[in-house]
Amino acid sequence: MAYQITPQLRDKINHFCRFPQTGVSLRQMVMFGQNPSQGTLLRATQFLADELPIRIAHRIQELENLPHNLGEMPSIIKVKNWYAQSFEDLINFPKTELPSSLRDKFTSSSIIQKLPDNVPHPANNPGRSGMLNPSIPICRRYYTKVDDIEWPPEVHYYNEKFTKLIEDIKRRHNPVVSTVGKRHKTKTVIETDIQAFLDRFYMSRIGIRILIGQHVALNKLPSRPDYVGIICTKTNIAQAVQEAADNAKFICEEHYGLFRAPEIQLHCSNDLLFTYIPTHLSHMLFELLKNSLRAVVEKFGEADEYPPIKVIVAEGKEDITIKISDEGGGIPRSNIPLVWTYMYTTAPSQHLDPEFNQTDFRAPMAGLGYGLPISRLYARYFGGDLKLISMEGYGTDVYLHLNRISNSDEPLQ
Ligand code: ADP
Ligand code: MG
Repeated sequence: MAYQITPQLRDKINHFCRFPQTGVSLRQMVMFGQNPSQGTLLRATQFLADELPIRIAHRIQELENLPHNLGEMPSIIKVKNWYAQSFEDLINFPKTELPSSLRDKFTSSSIIQKLPDNVPHPANNPGRSGMLNPSIPICRRYYTKVDDIEWPPEVHYYNEKFTKLIEDIKRRHNPVVSTVGKRHKTKTVIETDIQAFLDRFYMSRIGIRILIGQHVALNKLPSRPDYVGIICTKTNIAQAVQEAADNAKFICEEHYGLFRAPEIQLHCSNDLLFTYIPTHLSHMLFELLKNSLRAVVEKFGEADEYPPIKVIVAEGKEDITIKISDEGGGIPRSNIPLVWTYMYTTAPSQHLDPEFNQTDFRAPMAGLGYGLPISRLYARYFGGDLKLISMEGYGTDVYLHLNRISNSDEPLQ
């Protein structure tokens, strides 16, 4: 039988929707995650046990309120039900497995039980009454490290169980982008309200996946030098570009044939390091380089030589900017707004099987139409941006701005 949202679950979803989501910055994650004790991880468990259902409840509500009756499409209902299942799993996560002395100290036994029905609107309720300690905003709780005392084995066990739960949730949601994307196959109009929705929706998805990925890494991965969970405090840009270039060229030659790929020239100091999530950086570079490779090969066809793609990295105080310049003929000016929309592609459309696990998934050269918009979301997520300037008839420059977190958190006064 298809999954159904029961009236009881509906009440809980509505309840969680009344709370604001709590933002977490890269810097906060780095500070919090250094050599965490089991007590610190328990705090993180507690934070996520409240924060994830809040975020997920908001997504369910958004999916139900989509314009043009899109909320009734089978693919959207499917995605919504994954969110509802994950919501249910999270709010049902047992709090009773902790020693009772810790239970009071560390769990709010879920905001659902503690909060009276008439909680004030979140906007008037910054301390989120009913939580562990009403006077401490939730983000402060997450980021207060707990001393490394002797933690009873139950704490470890409890953290482990929660980690397993959210890992399963992350896996359940792997096919979300390809499933939501499906609806476009029947639509030719690119409605701006839908694009705005998708931006918000995918942005939120990135956030949820970072929180889960970071938590799982802190709990499960052996600590690696220069890493805090999934964050690398010494991400080497030159190395990241080189790897992305190798991977993109590989895919390009596989697609167009051997030697059918321009050279990628890199102008970057080899010791430029900064704090970032390397998988995000690789994703963006890979997508941008594939686009440039494709444009050049398609423009020059079976040429003996292609004009090289130039990657120039600039190190500023605020940003690190990576410029990728190609001579692939550019994009007509009237098409520029379209390249930022989901599913827009000038390549033969690729079918992405939503049931396919993303880890087995081989990236196509082009044809999904997500490369640019999703990369821009990744860039913006941590305060950066992605810009594209084209000279039709000549080529394209793409600017990837990455905010250096050492500055991004300082208050501007
Ligand atoms: P996809 O690569 O799957 O088509 P993208 O979002 O990466 O999706 O790009 C969308 C479209 O933007 C491409 O199909 C192409 O028409 C255009 N485009 C992107 N980058 C470039 C580039 N460097 N040069 C020319 N056209 C580009
Ligand atoms: Mg692309």
